[in-house]
Amino acid sequence: MQINSMLEKLKDALDYAQENSRFYRDLFEEYSIDLTSFSPDSFERIPFTQKSDLTARNQDFLAIEESSVFDITTTSGTTGDPISFYLSRNDVNRLATNEAGSLSLAGASNEDRFQLMTTMNRQFMAGLAYYEGIKKLGAGIVRTGPGSLKSQWEAILKYKPTYLIAIPSFIPSLIAEAKKLNINYQQTSVKAIVCIGEPIRTPELQPNTLHKRITDNWEVQLYSTYASTEMSTAYTECFAQNGCHEQSELIYTEVVDEEGNQVQEGESGEVVVTTLGVEAMPLIRYKTGDICHVYRTACSCKRTSLRLGPVIGRKDHRIKYKGTTLYPRSLQNFLTHENIWPYVITILTDHEGNDLVELLCDLNTDQTKLLDAFKQNFSVTPQIKKVSSDKINHLIYGKNLRKPQLVIDARSNQKAKDLISNL
Ligand SMILES: [Zn+2]
Repeated sequence: MQINSMLEKLKDALDYAQENSRFYRDLFEEYSIDLTSFSPDSFERIPFTQKSDLTARNQDFLAIEESSVFDITTTSGTTGDPISFYLSRNDVNRLATNEAGSLSLAGASNEDRFQLMTTMNRQFMAGLAYYEGIKKLGAGIVRTGPGSLKSQWEAILKYKPTYLIAIPSFIPSLIAEAKKLNINYQQTSVKAIVCIGEPIRTPELQPNTLHKRITDNWEVQLYSTYASTEMSTAYTECFAQNGCHEQSELIYTEVVDEEGNQVQEGESGEVVVTTLGVEAMPLIRYKTGDICHVYRTACSCKRTSLRLGPVIGRKDHRIKYKGTTLYPRSLQNFLTHENIWPYVITILTDHEGNDLVELLCDLNTDQTKLLDAFKQNFSVTPQIKKVSSDKINHLIYGKNLRKPQLVIDARSNQKAKDLISNL
């Protein structure tokens, strides 16, 4: 997008927030932000909005009348209390535009049919976004939701979807089920999978072990996506699979270091977003807590929008463990590589305030071999606790969860503490 046109969109977003959002009106006043003389420099002087602001002043972010609220979603709340996220009717339309754009990036058109293997309920924004986006794209949808492996195959064989929308760690089990049921899965209608919630690439953008475990067995195209409720926007890979493209009409992305300065091409930092065109809960310079690599040079698909690599860590999951900083995401990537499944990583605090990391894995795990592998890859190793795979699966796919829970951060979450203390 042209710089001038982007500046105009940012200015519109700031004007709207100042006028309608109590939180931003207060913030701009407190920091004497003068929008009449707006420039890129003055934009970067606006303080970041943190997740803790959203928690502490959730209702003050609402920029429309209560009576104009249409859909109410929540964040997943895996790292604390869920935040309510409101959408107007226009926000749902924006979500449709966003998702139609995202699926187009992944090569889909109105001739495709999607099997949606995630929930649309439980106030889950992504499920709604997929539904609305597929409708806008003019494509078809089979809403199986997170059903059993057998029922997923029955739907695939009967309704012949061309795309699946799924959590990628679910796919190896889907392949195993096809083998068990003697389904000729190489010859089905499915040509691609839009992968949500987990990375399928290394930080260098190469296929990771999970990606290979799927594509070594099944000739399908995998597309990475990156999104969150707060952003209300998805970043998606194109056919070049060179990082996930920003949709510049809908969001403005910055990637910053610890001091808040923009990082250089190819470097990693925290993703900071400013939503464009959001009515109910616009966010300005919102720190997502996600650490990604950023690419600003043109993609080989000729699009010039910014691209993000896979999430390599989440700031609010950052662990200070035996004097080093550790992200559960790097442990997860390692465990995928070592073919450890199922597992759950738990984080607790001891009496002296130190973080404790424990890995729950099933009874068949070769603990000595795993510990050796840990020592070769990390300067610290977590405690390993073996429990039955039933108990682990119960944690991963707990009753009211919208996606698998592979990290339980119980440091300031009593409910999570209770959950893991009963094992
Ligand atoms: Zn591209």
